[in-house]
Amino acid sequence: MKYSIASILLALTLSVYGQRPLKDIDVFTKAFENIQIASYTPDDSLVTTQPDIKADYWDNTVYSPYKNAVLEFPFQIKFRDSLYHAPIHKDKVVTSRFGWRWGRAHKGIDIDLITGDSVYAILDGIVRMARYTSGHGRTVVIRHFNGLETVYAHLSSYGVKENDTVFKGSYLGKGGNSGRSRGSHLHLGVNYKGIAINPEYLFEFSETNKIRSQELWVTEKWTQAIFHSSKRKSKLELLTTEDEALASLIKQKSIYVVKPGDTLSRISRTNNVSIAAICKLNHIKYNTVIKIGQKLVIEK
Ligand SMILES: [Zn+2]
Repeated sequence: MKYSIASILLALTLSVYGQRPLKDIDVFTKAFENIQIASYTPDDSLVTTQPDIKADYWDNTVYSPYKNAVLEFPFQIKFRDSLYHAPIHKDKVVTSRFGWRWGRAHKGIDIDLITGDSVYAILDGIVRMARYTSGHGRTVVIRHFNGLETVYAHLSSYGVKENDTVFKGSYLGKGGNSGRSRGSHLHLGVNYKGIAINPEYLFEFSETNKIRSQELWVTEKWTQAIFHSSKRKSKLELLTTEDEALASLIKQKSIYVVKPGDTLSRISRTNNVSIAAICKLNHIKYNTVIKIGQKLVIEK
């Protein structure tokens, strides 16, 4: 190695001074000085190319350490893989989706399981938190190399500890019913800098285990539970470029005229907007009686 560096430096030096006679001893002194420096330079080419995800906002003690982080919409998420690893080794039965539920935001997706079923990491990463929180119960949070964090909540036991490196498919613990939970299930959350994203925008929860796209732009709509219903899949339109994401922000307002037999729930279903969004836009409440012929503003 020393010889090859020496010969390269010598060749470079000679090409610079090549037109001059070689009697000048300084040329060689300079060349050897360089060799000394080169031979003491540590070889860091083998150091991992993964970003240092523990550098910022790394805190094992809180669910969301991103207190003063500024996140501008739309933002891009990149994946190196086209598949994720299933969080459980059985069919993924989604019992509740990301969206408005019981008058509050449900910021994840619920997947049915039996207490004691093994739970696995969906992507490579480092365990940022593995501890009990009052709502989520026993919870594991993994930070991934693309900046996403995935949350595995209501566990009955832990299979990892904080700061452990995990791989796609690594065992994380046993599923359960800890915390504020109605029956055993896995609450799977996907967060970016403390902001929850509808997991179904990024991942296909079927047997294919597909990541929907290697590059995706996330608009505020995909992070706000009020625009989604926990009872049904949101209409999916993937935004794979910034232009598409920005174009999607121009919302279309339309007027809906209430027909006989309409309820807020039916209008919400047929127009694919949440009841909460209709109420907010029209300054009405869930229990407001709507009349035939009444005009409602719908925003899609
Ligand atoms: Zn949940």
